Amino acid sequence: TAEKETLGFQTEAKQLLQLMIHSLYSNKEIFLRELISNASDAADKLRFEALADGSLYENDPDLKITITFDKDAKTITIADNGIGMSKEDVINHLGTIAKSGTAEFLSKLSGDQKKDSHLIGQFGVGFYSAFIVAERVEVLTRRAGLDKAEGVRWESEGEADFSVETIEKADRGTTIILHLREDDADFADSWRIRSIVKKYSDHIALPVMMEKQDMAAPAEEGEEEKKEENKAPEFETINNATALWTRSRADVKDEEYKEFYKLVSHDFEEPLTWSHNKVEGKLEYNSLLYVPKRAPFDMWNRDASRGLKLYVQRTFIMDDAEQFLPMYLRFIKGVVDSNDLSLNVSREILQQDPAVDSMKSALTKRVLDMLSKMAKNKPEEYAEFWKEFGQVLKEGPAEDFANKEKIAKLFRFSTTHTNVEAQDQSLEDYIGRMKEGQKDIYYVAGENFTTAKNSPHLEVFRKKGIEVLLLSDRVDEWLMGHLMEFDGKKFHDVGKGQLDLGELEDENDKKEQEELATANKDLIERVKTVLADKVEEVRVTNRLTESPACLVVGEQDMGAQMRRILEQAGQ
Ligand code: ADP
Ligand code: MG
Repeated sequence: TAEKETLGFQTEAKQLLQLMIHSLYSNKEIFLRELISNASDAADKLRFEALADGSLYENDPDLKITITFDKDAKTITIADNGIGMSKEDVINHLGTIAKSGTAEFLSKLSGDQKKDSHLIGQFGVGFYSAFIVAERVEVLTRRAGLDKAEGVRWESEGEADFSVETIEKADRGTTIILHLREDDADFADSWRIRSIVKKYSDHIALPVMMEKQDMAAPAEEGEEEKKEENKAPEFETINNATALWTRSRADVKDEEYKEFYKLVSHDFEEPLTWSHNKVEGKLEYNSLLYVPKRAPFDMWNRDASRGLKLYVQRTFIMDDAEQFLPMYLRFIKGVVDSNDLSLNVSREILQQDPAVDSMKSALTKRVLDMLSKMAKNKPEEYAEFWKEFGQVLKEGPAEDFANKEKIAKLFRFSTTHTNVEAQDQSLEDYIGRMKEGQKDIYYVAGENFTTAKNSPHLEVFRKKGIEVLLLSDRVDEWLMGHLMEFDGKKFHDVGKGQLDLGELEDENDKKEQEELATANKDLIERVKTVLADKVEEVRVTNRLTESPACLVVGEQDMGAQMRRILEQAGQ
């Protein structure tokens, strides 16, 4: 029907809209980046669908974005000839937020605008950012392949509702008209728009067109008018319009890498570091991988989307291609563009393709190398990284046995050497400080840092000046179960089994202990009887120098921390 319908925004969408308008006022210009990025996605989608059905191009194969403005009317218009939207698409995509974890995200908002604006940046601002500068937004769109009578006009003032109606639209794609707020009317300016496009969207592969500015000296009055009457305005491309990852490293400025990161990750902040590579040989592909500054709010949500943007020979194929990196590197963002995969590749095919496996191990290695480089050259940034992502990286040895040693080199721990909670000591640091005759790497695991630090099991180690790792992350004992050893040295839980310090023990210690055991035979028997089936064994020990007694679990038993985790899980 051609009737105009008014529909309410989904509650979450309404909340997000309000938040957007109120918390992003200091960074208004990003609305253009978001709308251009959507147009670019729409072009990618059209190209992809057209692989199977070339008629979708409708004799208009040159995909582009055109930006025009009208100073007097205070409007900016952003038009693309991408995939476009059907009426159903419009209602679903411009009235609701389909993103998983939306409710979780909204529940984290604090009301503090500065903090919230960071969060919302992580979440991705998207289409609604139009309302940062516009008091009214019109969207005219038609999906490629649909009849020209099946166009749609959507309009909203960004409050509670929006309207949709069917219109006739000859050309496919989406046109967005922003009716600027009085205070933001100065965005309707050629120089302003050009500089924002340059800043945020220079590297997208799609050309952004604007009307040519007439730089020539003004012609005689009569002449100029004639010219304007005769000629349609001429347009020119104002961005670089080549996919950034296809360019050579030497030609890409850091600023461009940073902006591109924001585009692929929907993150507001700059990345910590990145690695851009072109691989030639048996397999050919480009990759551009980024380490974000901050963990996403849904990093521990197993269903959260992860993975790289996949292109095949410059054609966008899919977002969130999970097959190119292991789970423990799920925080990495970026792009992979392969020359070997088929354009028809699907997620199912990706799972079986041996080329994908080779790429996955090469990309994994790239990421681990990028992290070790950061650890070596930029320790402060690495510390930041470790704080955000260390716990995820600790999943590595279990998932990726082949890279176990490499991953372990990236680990940082608190230890009795510094006695501070910050995890900033590497295993190599530890090994460098090992005592002569020390064979194992010792650790103690506690519920939190303080418990670990004050563990009575540490007394003898303190006395002898032997360093012990202080583990208190939930994953730590589980990690140790998979790590087993590093650089040929076994990990040894000081709270487990008989404490055998080997060569670190002097003869006197041993003799003393044996004598004590004999002398206290009766006491030991009594304690055993009293504790009966609560303990397996009672022993005299050299572990303690101050505490009278401590509990030790058997060599093969589960660690205390692990046991607590399972208990909490109801097992
Ligand atoms: P995102 O881009 O992260 O999906 P947005 O809020 O930016 O989120 O956009 C929401 C959805 O609206 C897009 O996923 C897309 O389906 C649709 N959309 C927005 N702009 C366009 C456009 N120019 N052409 C086609 N579809 C669009
Ligand atoms: Mg978007």
